[in-house]
Amino acid sequence: MSAQPFRHVALIGLGLIASSISHALRRTGDDVRITGYARSAATRARAAEIGLCEVRDSAAAAAEGADLVILCVPMGAMEAVAREIAPALAPGAMVSDVGSVKASVLEAVAPHLPEGVTFIPAHPIAGTEHSGPDAGFAELFDNRWCLLTPTPETDPAETARLRGFWEALGARVDEMEAAHHDLVLAVTSHAPHLIAYTMVGVADDLRRVTNSEVIQYSAAGFRDFTRIAASDPTMWRDVFLTNKDATLEILGRFTEELFALQRAIRTGDGDMLHAYFTRTRAIRRGIVQAGQDTDAPDFGRHAGKGSR
Ligand code: NAP
Repeated sequence: MSAQPFRHVALIGLGLIASSISHALRRTGDDVRITGYARSAATRARAAEIGLCEVRDSAAAAAEGADLVILCVPMGAMEAVAREIAPALAPGAMVSDVGSVKASVLEAVAPHLPEGVTFIPAHPIAGTEHSGPDAGFAELFDNRWCLLTPTPETDPAETARLRGFWEALGARVDEMEAAHHDLVLAVTSHAPHLIAYTMVGVADDLRRVTNSEVIQYSAAGFRDFTRIAASDPTMWRDVFLTNKDATLEILGRFTEELFALQRAIRTGDGDMLHAYFTRTRAIRRGIVQAGQDTDAPDFGRHAGKGSR
C-alpha cells in the first residue's frame, strides 16, 4: 500500500462509506487529519463519540482547509452539498465523491465548484446492507474495485493522486468514462437490486403463503434476495432516479431473457434451461477466480446456518 497523498480529508456524510474511509485511513498509519459533517445532530454526535473524525457543525466548516473533500451522501443530496461547501474550498483542493451513479454526479456537482478546484468522481464498489456511522470497517475496500471517472479535461496528475488515495485504503483502482460506468453498474448492481426488491415484494404480496411461512422456510434464493432488499431505501431510490436510462435498458433486456426462460419452462425445453444455467455458472466461477467473492459453500456462512 502506498503512502497517503492527502494531509487533510473532509468527509461530508458520515454513514457506511465515510466511516469505512475513516477506519481505512487510520489503518494506513499516516498522519492524516479527518474532519466531517452529517445532516443530523444524532449522527454527528455518534460520529464524535466513536472518534470517526473531528466533527463540524456545517459541511462548509468540515471542508475548510481540506485538500480532499469526499461527498459521502445519497445521490439526491450531492448538489446541495456541493453548493454549500463551494465557498470554503481553497484553490488546489480536490473534491471527489463515492456515489453509485457517475454521470449525474458530474452534472450536479461540477458547475458549483470554484475555479482552481478539481472534481474527480469516484465509486468504491464495496458495501453492505447496513448504514450509518457504526456500520463502517477498515477492510471494506480491501481488494475491491474503486472506479474513477475523470473527464478528458482532468489533469492526469490529479487523477493519479486520487488513485493513490484509494490504493492506500486497500482498493484496486480503474478509470472509465462516467456514462460507461453507469451502464456497467446497471448490469452488475442496480438491476439486480431492483429484481431483489421485486422478488421480496412478490413474496410479501402472496396471500397464499403466509408471512411466517416465507420467513420460517426461507431458503438460500429468497434469503439472499432479502439481504439485498434490506439496503438503504434513500440510497436506492436515488440510484434509480439518477441512473434511469441505463437501468431501464438493462431491465428491458432482463424482461426478454425472462420471457425466453418462461417459454422454455412452458414448452419443457430442458436443453435450453440446462445450457443457460451452465453458462451462468461459469460467470459465477469467473467472479470467484477474480477474487471478488468467496467460493465457500453458501457464501461462507457458518455450518448449521445453511439453507434448508
Ligand atoms: P449512509 O450510511 O446512509 O450514510 C449517508 C450519510 O449522508 C449520513 O450520514 C447522512 O446523515 C448523510 N446525509 C444525507 N443527506 C445529507 C445532507 N444533505 N447533508 C449532509 N449529510 C447528509 O449511506 P452510505 O451507504 O454511506 O452511502 C453514501 C453514498 O455512497 C451514496 O451516494 C451511495 O450511493 C454510495 N455508495 C454506497 C454503497 C453501499 O453499499 N452502501 C456502496 C458504494 C457507494 P444523517 O445520518 O444525519 O441522515
